[in-house]
Parts: sequence; structure tokens; C-alpha cells
Amino acid sequence: MSLAATQPNHPHRIDLFLVYNRDRNKSDGESTLRFNNENLMIDLHTHSLLSDGALLPSELVRRAYAIGYKAIGIADHADISNIDFIVPRIVKASRILTSSKIKVVPGIELTHVPPKDFPSLIKYARANGIKLVIVHGETIVEPVIPGTNACALECDIDILAHPGLITLRDAKVAVRREICLELTAKTGHSLTNGHVARVAREAKAKLILNTDAHGPKDLITRDTAMSIILGSGLTEAQAHAVFKNSSQLLKKF
Ligand SMILES: [Zn+2]
Ligand SMILES: [Zn+2]
Repeated sequence: MSLAATQPNHPHRIDLFLVYNRDRNKSDGESTLRFNNENLMIDLHTHSLLSDGALLPSELVRRAYAIGYKAIGIADHADISNIDFIVPRIVKASRILTSSKIKVVPGIELTHVPPKDFPSLIKYARANGIKLVIVHGETIVEPVIPGTNACALECDIDILAHPGLITLRDAKVAVRREICLELTAKTGHSLTNGHVARVAREAKAKLILNTDAHGPKDLITRDTAMSIILGSGLTEAQAHAVFKNSSQLLKKF
């Protein structure tokens, strides 16, 4: 049955449907150029209103595209109470919102979860389509359960977010387990960026920069991202390595 036959009295709906699918399916030179453009932003840690973010996934992704993103991870806060609610919605939204213009990675951020529960929640998330698993690390501005960093790094995660005063020992585990440590643009969590950068450098751990955005004003340009990384004490060359780490991690998804 054709679309026209199913909706003969709604021409505007048909137009929107066609535009939507044309954009989704486009694989022309422009989009190839966009994904190859190294000046565009990759930000793998953001929140929608499926947890405590301000925006619908649709608006979050649209805002991100408009400010110069080529990839975004939607990684809403999860614990045992809401994981079954948010996972299918994030997976569905990411699939629908991914286009030739921007890649949307379905993620979760396990937040203030007792570390003993990490393995079962991660297993559940991955089995249900989550590609990107983040753990809310031991930021100094919240009373995160001590030992969260160490336990998370032994689990099947991709990023340890805002790991606060992470130890050299834990950073070396991150190297062994190929887990990225996060520099963050988020106020408060970013207070230890300098420490995280120094310890990661000493351990040779991979760093990435994310925004942990909860609203439209938290999304940043690539230039601002560069400034934040430089502000953590890294050199420009090291900052480019941070961006490369994000690109490499993105390829996993
Ligand atoms: Zn967090
Ligand atoms: Zn977060």
C-alpha cells in the first residue's frame, strides 16, 4: 500500500515524511565531507530529559548539529530504578535521529550505582542495544561511593567520566582495559581536569573531552573544546591526540 493511499487527506504529513527520509538516506559528497571534517565536534556524554537533561533527544541532537557536532552520545543517568525505562527509548531515538549529518550513539551513564551492581546493569544495557557505557566517576563535587573508579574500570565500560582525584594505579588499569578517562566541560566536575590530565599522561591512559551537557547552553564548539583541553595543562599536540581518541572510540559504535 502506498503512502499516498494511506494518507490522501494529509499532504503536509506526506511532505514531511519524504523530507525526513530523503535526509536520512542521503549519502552525497556533502555528508561524506562532514564526517571527514576534523573541526567538527564529537561529544559522547550528554543527557536528555529521559534523565535530568532539559531537552528531548530530538532537540538535543538538532542543537548539537547546529553548533557543529558530527557525533553525539546520549548517555542518560541510569540505576536499577530506571534502566528498563530509558534504554529502549535512547536506543530508538538514536537510531531514528542518526542521519548523514550526525551520528547519535545510544549510551547510559551508571550514576551513584553501588559498584557490585555494575556488571548486571551493564549486561542488561548492552543486551538491549546500548553501545556506549559510561560510569559516573568519583568527582570531588558529589559524594560518589568510594571505590567507584576502581570497580568501574574492571567492568565492560567505555568511558570513566569525571574521575576526580583518580589514582595512578587506576589510570594504569584504564590503559590495560582500554577505557577512556574523561576531561569534562562541566562546571564542578572540571575542577580536577588538571589532575586527570597529569595522571593520565603519566599512565599513558587515553583521554577524551566531553561536555556532560544537560541543556543547550552546555554544548560547545570544537574551539571551546580545544581551550578546555589546553586549560587542563595539555599541549596543543596532546589536545589533538585527545580529539583523535574520541574519533577512534566513535568508530567502535
Ligand atoms: Zn556524571
Ligand atoms: Zn553525565
